[in-house]
Amino acid sequence: MRHLSIKLKVTLWYTFLMIVVVTAVLGFMYLISSSVIEKDVKKELEAVVDSIGGSIHLDDHEVIISVNLVQNGIYTVVYKENLSPIQGFFPLEYDNTNIEYKSDVLQTIKINGLNFYVYDRKVSLQDEEDRTSVWIRGVVAADTTPNLMKNLFETALMTLPFLVLLAAIGGYLISRQAFKPIDRLMKAANQISDGKDLSKRIGLENSKDEIGRLASTFDRMFNRLENSFEAEKQFTSDASHELRTPITVILAQSELAQSSAKTLEDHQEALSVIHRQALKISHLISQLLAFARLDQDRGKVEFTHVDLSDLAKSVCDEQNEAWESSITLSTEIQANVSAQGDPVLLNRLMSNLIENAYQYGKENGHIKVSLSQTQKEILFKVEDDGIGISQQEQEKIFQRFYQVSNSRTANERGSMGLGLAMVQKIAVLHKGSISVESTIHKGSSFIFRFPK
Ligand code: ADP
Repeated sequence: MRHLSIKLKVTLWYTFLMIVVVTAVLGFMYLISSSVIEKDVKKELEAVVDSIGGSIHLDDHEVIISVNLVQNGIYTVVYKENLSPIQGFFPLEYDNTNIEYKSDVLQTIKINGLNFYVYDRKVSLQDEEDRTSVWIRGVVAADTTPNLMKNLFETALMTLPFLVLLAAIGGYLISRQAFKPIDRLMKAANQISDGKDLSKRIGLENSKDEIGRLASTFDRMFNRLENSFEAEKQFTSDASHELRTPITVILAQSELAQSSAKTLEDHQEALSVIHRQALKISHLISQLLAFARLDQDRGKVEFTHVDLSDLAKSVCDEQNEAWESSITLSTEIQANVSAQGDPVLLNRLMSNLIENAYQYGKENGHIKVSLSQTQKEILFKVEDDGIGISQQEQEKIFQRFYQVSNSRTANERGSMGLGLAMVQKIAVLHKGSISVESTIHKGSSFIFRFPK
């Protein structure tokens, strides 16, 4: 039973059920109708005998019978008072006449295996000069009429197998049709799990039944799978690409120094290029590691109570010291703003935004860092008056490895477009969001909102 498909199980089950129901209904009908018919036969017998009794009369010493003595399969014989027959006959099979005469009593008699109902009536007759009585005996075969029902039942039993077969085939076809989407679902899932074709979809948008909904849930899952798989591939390829550039430079410089550097200055020059590139690689790797760790730890970040006002102040001080720049940093930090969060990650978020403001700011420009809170949320904002970001680029800067092509100093520091992607990840991890408002050549402001 276990290895049968659902289609077959469903078909078998309701075919079986149908047989049981139809047989039960037929049997029930047979029982009821035969008892009804039996009652009808008896009633009819009595009625026929009664009516014959009513229509016999005496005329000039003679018994006059003016009706047909065989009616509806009921045979009647009229006897004189001394029981000698006057008129009428019985069915052939009814060949026993020694049955006691009892007026107004219905008897059931078995003769040669056949059942008969026998009903007698004694009727008194009289005219002006005479007075006598006659016996009327009515006989009807008890089985004849129910036989009709039996035949009907037998015919039904004979056609039943065909009906069942028809229902089974029809049912099987319908359930096969109904289960087709499941087959498609299985096929698509198999192809995807084999890794052959990630873009495979079940595509049952038109059907809104349970299976259709299941299929579209699967399709959505496949979409996400494909996207994250593609993103992963992209990430690896971008990361290797970013690492390859400085390594190529290092290789070229070291070869050049070995083959053609003559003076100490030549060697020092080559070494400083190599050092810069190595620093870049180191920066890239630590960023990559931080990113990977963030992905890994996603489920198990432990939130603690963080004094955001203190944190923001110290990050601003650090950045101010780190950047020997003509840009001035001003703050507007509300005191005692605190929240549940991861202090290391929040520190990274703030540092990244401020670093970018320095990096993409203009000479003698201004940066303003503010922290405030409302009833519902906390706002951390970094505004600069630097190079700005065009509307189209604003949508892309949060993607991993995305860098606006004209960002001046980016490559000097070994940035590779991971900062904002990380910022966004941290924001989401804190159930917050990050948004940007910017006008090209005028400046940008990044806002981190996060619910209390
Ligand atoms: P990067 O490592 O290049 O700074 P980010 O992810 O931090 O990477 O930023 C992505 C890109 O967004 C940057 O290359 C830069 O072009 C742009 N960008 C980020 N912050 C600013 C800003 N404050 N002003 C102008 N452009 C910015």
